[in-house]
Amino acid sequence: MKNSANQNIKPLTTRVNERGNLEISGCDLTELAEKFSTPLYVVDENTLRTICREYKEAFAPYPNTRLLFASKSLCTMATSRILAQEGFGFDVVSDGEMFTVHKAGVDMKTVLFNGSNKGIDELNLALELGVGRISVDNFLELSLLNELAQKSGKTADILLRITPGIECHTHEYIQTGHLDSKFGFDLTQIDSAIELIQDEYKKLNLKGLHAHIGSQIFETKVYKDEVDILFAQMVRINEKFGLNLDELNLGGGLGVKYTNVDHPPSTFEIADIIINALEENIKKYGIKPVIYLEPGRSIVCTAGVTLYTIGSSKQVPHGTKYIAIDGGMADNPRPSMYQAEYFAQIANKPEKPADETVTVAGRYCESGDILIKNITLPTPEEGDILCVYNTGAYNYSMSSNYNRVTKPAMVLINEGCADIIVERETLEDLTRNDKLPQRLGEK
Ligand SMILES: *Cc1c(COP(=O)(O)O)cnc(C)c1O
Repeated sequence: MKNSANQNIKPLTTRVNERGNLEISGCDLTELAEKFSTPLYVVDENTLRTICREYKEAFAPYPNTRLLFASKSLCTMATSRILAQEGFGFDVVSDGEMFTVHKAGVDMKTVLFNGSNKGIDELNLALELGVGRISVDNFLELSLLNELAQKSGKTADILLRITPGIECHTHEYIQTGHLDSKFGFDLTQIDSAIELIQDEYKKLNLKGLHAHIGSQIFETKVYKDEVDILFAQMVRINEKFGLNLDELNLGGGLGVKYTNVDHPPSTFEIADIIINALEENIKKYGIKPVIYLEPGRSIVCTAGVTLYTIGSSKQVPHGTKYIAIDGGMADNPRPSMYQAEYFAQIANKPEKPADETVTVAGRYCESGDILIKNITLPTPEEGDILCVYNTGAYNYSMSSNYNRVTKPAMVLINEGCADIIVERETLEDLTRNDKLPQRLGEK
């Protein structure tokens, strides 16, 4: 089976240049660090577009496939523009993501609004911007959306988010399809939801079913199970309620290679499993549904790296050697949140012998702010540039201003060009929304 870029740790064009520095897409990483300062998020356009094309090629044998990008993994105007150019629609989960893709010029018909407790303002915005599908998560939302659609004189094309009862072996916090999940209708609730839509909620137009079974998934069989379960439910519902549902959203979840112990399947392997399962069901039931896929991590993760400057170090007697960087849990909360592991290299001396095992500590005031435990590197020194790989997904999008630290800039690189796509925050940005009530006095 063909390989795909999510099976690499590094962006596709990463190499060591004549100066002995790490280079991606013709950009020397030490020069990027110098020009744009650190911490710096870097996105390689070439890797990103290649991954999009691999997905399209992999699912080409089933032309009824609609690819949506899960914006929650990375949402900026520039990356949204690139994804739209590559033919992707978008899965958005908030007004902020909806607004960003709208400002990026995305055709809102290609957008699906998903989320477990959508607000009234957010649902109204979705109706106003004309998003293509709303995935309804619960009974309250069904009645609310119907009411809002009625008020605005519109109808809403919806999917029902269901929990298919599939356990996949990933971290507990990123499992979503198991029965005891906070997301969606469970299989015992679907029929009452459909009765309500048929009998009362005349402004809702049910098109199909939606599930998402988890994230950083390495197993392939779970996708066959998911297709079988959703397909059987769709057929059962159509027969029982005299409907013609023909849309199945399979969610996202394909894993990536963060370190050498990870062996994610290729996009082509997943596509093969899904398409074969679809064909079997199509033969059995005679319906050829539109399928949606919503990958996030596997699209953007490998295309992104983060650059940090190494500062102080500390050797605990007979213990760990810590090296400190100028970022950490606020720009990448994944290690402290779910013990996520990362691979890194020193950008200004990647080929010097790796002779020292260190723990990379973040700058934030939490003992848990450790970015990488026990990595062997060429002796790190103050001023070295550390390149942490696979930070394209769930880094910037999960970042915070903890410790009142400004968020890093993001640059998009391509064949020697580097353009800022997100400005580094300033100290003024941090205080922009603060107010001093008059009654507190002048000083
Ligand atoms: C998070 C999420 C995705 C994307 O998951 P990845 O693991 O990043 O591919 C897709 N669909 C839904 C509903 C999600 O919640």
